[in-house]
Amino acid sequence: MPPPKVSPDHLVVSEVFGPTFQGEGPHAGQHAYFVRLGLCNLACTWCDTKWTWDWDNYDPDQELTIMTPADVFAAVWDLVPIGVPPSRIVISGGEPLIQQRALYSFVQTAAHAGFRMEIETAGTLQPSGDLIDWVDSWNVSPKLDHSGNAKNKRYKPSVLYEFTQLRTAFKFVVTHPSDLHEVEGIVEECDIPRYQVWIMPEGVTPESTLAHAQAVANDVLQRGWNLTMRQHVQLWPDIHRGR
Ligand code: SF4
Repeated sequence: MPPPKVSPDHLVVSEVFGPTFQGEGPHAGQHAYFVRLGLCNLACTWCDTKWTWDWDNYDPDQELTIMTPADVFAAVWDLVPIGVPPSRIVISGGEPLIQQRALYSFVQTAAHAGFRMEIETAGTLQPSGDLIDWVDSWNVSPKLDHSGNAKNKRYKPSVLYEFTQLRTAFKFVVTHPSDLHEVEGIVEECDIPRYQVWIMPEGVTPESTLAHAQAVANDVLQRGWNLTMRQHVQLWPDIHRGR
């Protein structure tokens, strides 16, 4: 079956879960709920959420649910423990900005209710002004050559430059110290301030994540960048969904 089409009236959702911790980036460790949207415009070889877009290996009928923005908000609200105030909602994917017209309605509702809104994106699609107004922080993860995507699909300098003007953490997934040269080129070309650059080791086990981090840590320090681990991988190494 083909995947559902994007619509301004509904969201194509993979999973809604929490409470948990944001596992990556400047808000790592913060109390959060996750809305993972389906569909992606890239196809990274090491993607750890292929069930959101890889229809050669996953069945969209099984993996995706069509929900109105109000239904998604109700699903998050049901997860909030009694007596606990709204915290952070992280919208992840897939590529959430494919669905930004319907996403706007959800983000506005949740922000009104007191949640801080964080959106994770690969930085290939420009966010609309409407959406920007309601988003507390952006987690932009430009994909490098090792992702396996063609450069003209994965790298959009003008979009990345626009994100430098917002509250953005640029999170680069690296697998090898040589990846840092490629990151440096993007940082220079897109004029990304060093305090906004976060290096994250690739890995789906605590051991591989730590090994990749240790291989680059000193170099990251010398370049004036930040380093983030993947807390959810360390805390729940055997759980790949819902954490
Ligand atoms: S952009 Fe993200 S969701 Fe899409 S294929 Fe790459 S890692 Fe997976």
